[in-house]
Amino acid sequence: MVMTTPEPRATGLRCFRCGTLAPLSLDAYLCAACAGRPAPKEAPRDSPAAGIAVDPADPGVQDVVYDYDAAAADFPAEGRVPGLWRWGALLPVQPGPLDLLPVGGTPIFPAPALAKRLGLRALYLKDDTRNPTQALKDRATALALTLASARGKEALFCASAGNAAISLAGFCAHAGLRCAVHVPSYASQVRLDWLRRFGAEVHVSKGDYDQAVEESEAEGERSGAYSRNCAYNPFLVEGKKTVAFEIGEQLRWLAPDLVVAPVGDGCTLGAIGKGFRELATLGRIKKAPRLVGVQARGVSPIVARFRGAPVPDDEGGSTRAASIAVRRPRNALRVLSEVRASEGALIDVSDADIEAASSRLAREAGVVVEYTAAAALAGLESLAEQESLAGKTAVLVLTGGRVD
Ligand SMILES: *Cc1c(COP(=O)(O)O)cnc(C)c1O
Ligand SMILES: [Zn+2]
Repeated sequence: MVMTTPEPRATGLRCFRCGTLAPLSLDAYLCAACAGRPAPKEAPRDSPAAGIAVDPADPGVQDVVYDYDAAAADFPAEGRVPGLWRWGALLPVQPGPLDLLPVGGTPIFPAPALAKRLGLRALYLKDDTRNPTQALKDRATALALTLASARGKEALFCASAGNAAISLAGFCAHAGLRCAVHVPSYASQVRLDWLRRFGAEVHVSKGDYDQAVEESEAEGERSGAYSRNCAYNPFLVEGKKTVAFEIGEQLRWLAPDLVVAPVGDGCTLGAIGKGFRELATLGRIKKAPRLVGVQARGVSPIVARFRGAPVPDDEGGSTRAASIAVRRPRNALRVLSEVRASEGALIDVSDADIEAASSRLAREAGVVVEYTAAAALAGLESLAEQESLAGKTAVLVLTGGRVD
């Protein structure tokens, strides 16, 4: 892939948990200053999550810091730069020699019947199911392969309920790289089939997603492969935030009032929040939208933390929304701080609500998505019961399209 994108303007890495600012290094992973140290009660003043209660299990996740004055001039890049790489001035790496599947540049379109029922002025669907492997996860994967290649690595790893693993496997198949993926015991047959077709090395855990994350991290440490675990690797969220840049541009820089997405580890909505804040910092939009994050009630630790309620530490609840069934979310501080900054909300919905929303999305908008992705509509419907959405514009981010 030969193209001219702007020099990245990343200058450092800031830890959500301890606030330490580290110099930028492509070797960076979790915060070195946090390693082996007990978690503070709340994130300190220097952290973007300042004042938010820290869970002892929160890892030291780092956030990429940029020089926005320097980035402004070539954002987005001029000329024929495809998809996600148009936003190169606010990405931590430039495209290298690898042949990547084309990612980003997905359509957005109105859903007038749904808008009317919810009392909105307008509702838009940002259809990220139209990425190469049918999920928004492809945006992070594109960065992971580029970074792996920049560091001379030919193998990657990740843990996943399915979408991240399939994304990694597809991109690796296309680029001629190897990957090892760790999936939970309940990964569906459809998902396992995709992984095997792409030729991934598949490890099916005996446990849930959280256990698969631990197994993949241990395996990655042994093998020296490059990590596509989006919460731990600080650079991957930067790929996901490009969906916000596209929404801004597609709506002619008139930011919506609300942006809604399902929340698992917290990377996706955290990234969307960062993307919109950066658009506001650069003066492209006047004000960042309120973020509405949605979890399935059966597994909703981030909603509990948002409410200041204790997080259940048993394995009690369950949900069919496998792609967000995360009991120990790794990017909670990120998503909590972005939702707070946006004056947004985190909402839980029942599986029955998701089921109903999924059929309304099909019948009233002509769109079929995976069960988890329909949680976004269920969340917006729940919000519409709590407050009037009259005169408001909302965007649902359709995060995954693989039906299983
Ligand atoms: C991964 C995923 C999410 C949630 O993303 P997090 O970064 O884990 O919060 C939402 N929807 C779908 C379809 C996903 O695959
Ligand atoms: Zn730290």
